[in-house]
Amino acid sequence: MAIRIAIVGYGKIARDQHVPAIADNTDFTLAAVVSPRAPRPAGVRCFADTEGLLGQAAELDAAAVCTPPGVRYGIARAALEAGLHVLLEKPPGVTVGEVEELARLAAERKRSLFTTWHAQHNPAVTRLADALAGQRIQAMRIAWREDVRKWHPGQQWIWQPGGFGVFDPGINAFSIASRIVPGALLVRGAELVFPANRQMPIAAELELASPAADAPIGCTLDWRHQGQECWDIHVESGGRRYLLSEGGGRLEIDGAKVAAEGAGEYPSLYRRFAELVQTGQSDIDLQPLRITADAFLSGRRSTTSAFDD
Ligand code: NAP
Repeated sequence: MAIRIAIVGYGKIARDQHVPAIADNTDFTLAAVVSPRAPRPAGVRCFADTEGLLGQAAELDAAAVCTPPGVRYGIARAALEAGLHVLLEKPPGVTVGEVEELARLAAERKRSLFTTWHAQHNPAVTRLADALAGQRIQAMRIAWREDVRKWHPGQQWIWQPGGFGVFDPGINAFSIASRIVPGALLVRGAELVFPANRQMPIAAELELASPAADAPIGCTLDWRHQGQECWDIHVESGGRRYLLSEGGGRLEIDGAKVAAEGAGEYPSLYRRFAELVQTGQSDIDLQPLRITADAFLSGRRSTTSAFDD
């Protein structure tokens, strides 16, 4: 029988990616949606809050929590306690502690918990991770620049405590970096740039280190970028130059594009979730969140001009 899944939080990512990925996967059926306000999808049961949804938990098997991160823990906890398997959009929580507690609860309740990092599911990322496995990295640089007005129009939660600011997209870079670097990634230095009127940074400069890398790994995150976005990771290893661009969507080796076939980010992610539910396992990866937390803990703060939407 198909896994009856509810989407909690019917915003941009739920509509753009989760709904089509669920529709295209015969292991799932979309059974309900929680959307506090409009829009509400036609033809699917819709609840104004999670309490209403979980009142009908007997008719569900799983929940995909696609809200902003600040409310993710409470919703995921209630869903696990109601006996549902849980898929968490990125980032899986606001703190490492929240996710550790959800992992403990999922194990106790024998439910599957999946901390998804969609960018890791690009076929080009898998291809690069395979190429770098067991290798040393001679040089690596991450550049994640985009226009916040284009990618987060009107989203106020990204600027509030727990909203991650520029680390909302930046954590995607960390999820790829932690997948491809064959060793731990540590934060050695960070500078976080806060608009005078905002609680979260608009830009950040990080220096990362890894026992697998011969040199520091530079990382620039910037939301003040205009024009074509840049989501690039450059790597030099074993005499070859790798460029992973388009947020993990495209790989070049020594300047030549490399074909990488696969289901794509969200279809792949739902295949994995089905596998976890069917085999009674969880998949919990804290590394990108830990790198983000370490940057906030150890970074220097600087202030820039106020930002208004
Ligand atoms: P969004 O467009 O602001 O959508 C968030 C949705 O969550 C809204 O519909 C909001 O409903 C709903 N919501 C808020 N609190 C809720 C609650 N307590 N219960 C149920 N629903 C609640 O944000 P988004 O861009 O989809 O991002 C959501 C998450 O996905 C973030 O963690 C983000 O990092 C991640 N993500 C986003 C993208 C992207 O391209 N946008 C890509 C990958 C991952 P109301 O508006 O009615 O309050």
